[in-house]
Amino acid sequence: MSTRRSAELCDSAPGLSRRHALGRLAGGLAAGAVASLAMARAQIRPPALTGRVVRSTDRAYDAARFDFNRRFDVRPLAIVYPTDPGDVGNAVRWARAHGVPLSVRSGGHSYEAFSLGPGLVIDVSAMHAVTLDPPGHTITAQPGVRLLDLYRWLWNEGVAVSGGTCASVGLGGLTVGGGVGYLSRMWGLTADNVIRFEVVDAEGRALEASPRHNPDLFWALRGGGASFGIVTEITVRVQPIGSVVVIHLEWPFEYAAAVLSAWQQHQVSWPDELAFTLELGGTPAGTLAGDGLFLGRDERLRPLLAPLIAAAPPTRSAFAVMPWIDAAVQFSGESLLPLFKAKSDFTRTPLPAEAIDSVMRFMARAPSATCAIQFQQWGGAISRVPADATAFPHRAGTLSLMQYLAHWRTEADATAHLEWIGEFHTAMRPYVSGGAYSNMPDVELADWQRAYYGANLGRLMAIKKAHDPNNVFRFAQSIPVGI
Ligand SMILES: Cc1cc2nc3c(=O)[nH]c(=O)nc-3n(C[C@H](O)[C@H](O)[C@H](O)COP(=O)(O)OP(=O)(O)OC[C@H]3O[C@@H](n4cnc5c(N)ncnc54)[C@H](O)[C@@H]3O)c2cc1C
Repeated sequence: MSTRRSAELCDSAPGLSRRHALGRLAGGLAAGAVASLAMARAQIRPPALTGRVVRSTDRAYDAARFDFNRRFDVRPLAIVYPTDPGDVGNAVRWARAHGVPLSVRSGGHSYEAFSLGPGLVIDVSAMHAVTLDPPGHTITAQPGVRLLDLYRWLWNEGVAVSGGTCASVGLGGLTVGGGVGYLSRMWGLTADNVIRFEVVDAEGRALEASPRHNPDLFWALRGGGASFGIVTEITVRVQPIGSVVVIHLEWPFEYAAAVLSAWQQHQVSWPDELAFTLELGGTPAGTLAGDGLFLGRDERLRPLLAPLIAAAPPTRSAFAVMPWIDAAVQFSGESLLPLFKAKSDFTRTPLPAEAIDSVMRFMARAPSATCAIQFQQWGGAISRVPADATAFPHRAGTLSLMQYLAHWRTEADATAHLEWIGEFHTAMRPYVSGGAYSNMPDVELADWQRAYYGANLGRLMAIKKAHDPNNVFRFAQSIPVGI
């Protein structure tokens, strides 16, 4: 695409004139910062926008402009699909030269659509190559690869990476926010296994972030989110894997308090090989189920789960030995409802009886059966990484990750679901750590900076100032440039 056509794209886009775009970009910046931004812009020769470009007049636009969560109806100026770091760099320089805000997207699964904005969306989903690095202990993957595709590719090589459960989450967004799944208690978060990133920075330059090159950026990109650059390549450790045991237990909803109490009490002594999540589903069905993965022999597993089963008799219990890839497929189911809101909490102490009562009350009055709360086991390898070794702070002493979920079908159902999840989250404040998972972002969260990043926030802000002083990588919950 020529420079002239690129400029036309900027000036002619409906709903986002160049002035409008500049105004938005400048919004919130101090006068001095605006001046230096203008100077920086003047020094950049507008490059062509390279890679496939989808504009508002294109047939592909409506399919391209939505993220996984259909709650957000954003109309970007354009979406560009780079195929290499050169295209990514051109997109950054193009956006800056034209004063257009940019967003970065890999898999498009941001809960709050942080990968969408009114300006240029740089969508790296076409960059999804994976290579196994000799001698086979690491892979180098591009950020657009989807998790289940990655797991399948790795399975053919007899290895796995610690990642999330959902099939279509992109590796890029998952990794920069942390990345947790059933293998994390054994091997740590996805981010904990990264040994090198390739990044395009705010000037459009490709650089390496690793322990030897730009170590501060390397630290920030492991859990500190999307505020520092566009990841174009990730080198990450993999581990050999074969058969696993997949566990599924179901109880009547009325046993939820007894089962949750037993789970809280016993899960802390379980070995890293076992990861087990409890989920309560809303009314009218009111469901209670537990799903787990065990990386050991079946006969070692039964005694571990015996106290949970003794707490209340399951109506269904399945223990199936299967190849890891079949387990990954089984875990990867996604809600079919297009609109959702989620919130998260970490616990550092077991929920007391009155908190469990609250959980039961809120689940019993959930507006639909597609509301849920999940209790995900924490600890193991995740907790052995010091809280300041990477930007991800929720480490030793954390017992569980709670996720509140509300899915609904049509706009008319939004208010009831949003009110329910907001009130539920508020009611749990006295019992939780105050931390939250940045990969489960929540725009209503007060003091989200501390909740996501804890004591690592100050260092993240310093790194932001060093690498992106003009706040090019900006969205509703990006790291601020400085105080
Ligand atoms: C159905 C579902 C299931 C999930 N399950 C899990 C799970 O099991 N475990 C878990 O840990 N998380 C899970 N998540 C949360 C998931 O990790 C985050 O939503 C993650 O940010 C999605 O990454 P993405 O690339 O798909 O999304 P995107 O929307 O593309 O990106 C998310 C964020 O990362 C930024 N980003 C994307 N690509 C890049 C890049 N290349 N460089 C720099 N920044 C980038 C975006 O700008 C945005 O801020 C789940 C989410 C959903 C919707």
